[in-house]
Amino acid sequence: MANRKNIYLDYAASTPMDPEVIKEMEPYFTQVYGNPSGIHQHAQAAASALQTARRAFAEHLDCLPEEILFTSGGTESDNLALRGVAFAERARRNADHILTTKVEHQAVLKTTLDLQKHDGFEVEIIPVDNYGMVDLDTLRDLLRDTTAIVSVIHGNNEIGTINPVDEIGEICRQRGIPFHTDAVQSAVHLPLQPAKINIDLMSVGGHKFYGPKGIGVLYKSKEITIDPVLTGGSHEYGMRPGTENIPLIIGMMAAYNRIRSSQARYHDHNTRLRDRIIEGVTGTINGVQLTGHPTQRLPNHASFIFSDLDSNNLLMLLDMEGFSCASGSSCKTGQPEPSSVLLAMGFSEREALGGLRVTVGKQTTEDEVDAFLAALPSIVDKARNF
Ligand SMILES: *Cc1c(COP(=O)(O)O)cnc(C)c1O
Repeated sequence: MANRKNIYLDYAASTPMDPEVIKEMEPYFTQVYGNPSGIHQHAQAAASALQTARRAFAEHLDCLPEEILFTSGGTESDNLALRGVAFAERARRNADHILTTKVEHQAVLKTTLDLQKHDGFEVEIIPVDNYGMVDLDTLRDLLRDTTAIVSVIHGNNEIGTINPVDEIGEICRQRGIPFHTDAVQSAVHLPLQPAKINIDLMSVGGHKFYGPKGIGVLYKSKEITIDPVLTGGSHEYGMRPGTENIPLIIGMMAAYNRIRSSQARYHDHNTRLRDRIIEGVTGTINGVQLTGHPTQRLPNHASFIFSDLDSNNLLMLLDMEGFSCASGSSCKTGQPEPSSVLLAMGFSEREALGGLRVTVGKQTTEDEVDAFLAALPSIVDKARNF
């Protein structure tokens, strides 16, 4: 990889792991390798590590240990929440209606569409405003007695907007409808205490907070019943079979403990760099606008639309100059596709092709941000003349 100097500005996609966290994981590959389901000493040592991690997350989220389910990551947590509740609520009370938004991560969006296509659920979309925030009055109107689950993203991965999940939870609670939020992006920045604010299910993923990939948590309130998605053993209270991945669980715990112990400092660091990027970009380049909410946004997240360019070209040129950034649009067989999130927020197809996401993190420095800001204007010019 970085055989030349490269500045990483894509912390929303993934984050690096601290060597100390990897060290904490190591014994669980080589020494404490027992299967936690067993009776003997090796098994009990693994079971004890598992319990420690479950309790740590229960403490962070201010919930019961049995409300913490370990999964293979954010994607699986989203799937388990949506599929698990949809099938259980249909069996329990004939609920076959799902409410979600068009600004969800694919792990939620595609799962709801799959439930519609293959399992006969009706998926309805709660509209969002120009900032990508859900309209609470419309949500109230759309709720039915037969709504099985409402799923709304907390911190948006593409445009940074934070949804008012406490108010959404309150609205759902009044109607007795389960509420799920994808907090994979936000958990590192704005730790939620789901039980306190009427969130019934919440997805979290390790590699967005300096933990390992392939590991995550689903918070599931003890009041909520889900049908398991995978079939197998009785791990994770019978809701997620498969031998627990103790090294990754320990790594995820260690990473989260570290972030939570420096939360205020982390927040200030991110906010300062993010605001420097937003001011620098909108102040020096013509034909650019901030996307997402100006204040209710992830502290490390800046996102923009540039007029008259295709973001795939912009990203390629940025990469050539040594900057790793992202966008919401994708390039399929050479044909650029506008970002569906930006379209849902009311931007035109042309505008939705020009998105850029710049996300900072623990290792980002002011010098890196300044280097980016200095290089960007001419790179944007090149992308516009591409
Ligand atoms: C990264 C991400 C996911 C997927 O998580 P994985 O652990 O990579 O499967 C889901 N939702 C959001 C908002 C994300 O940012």
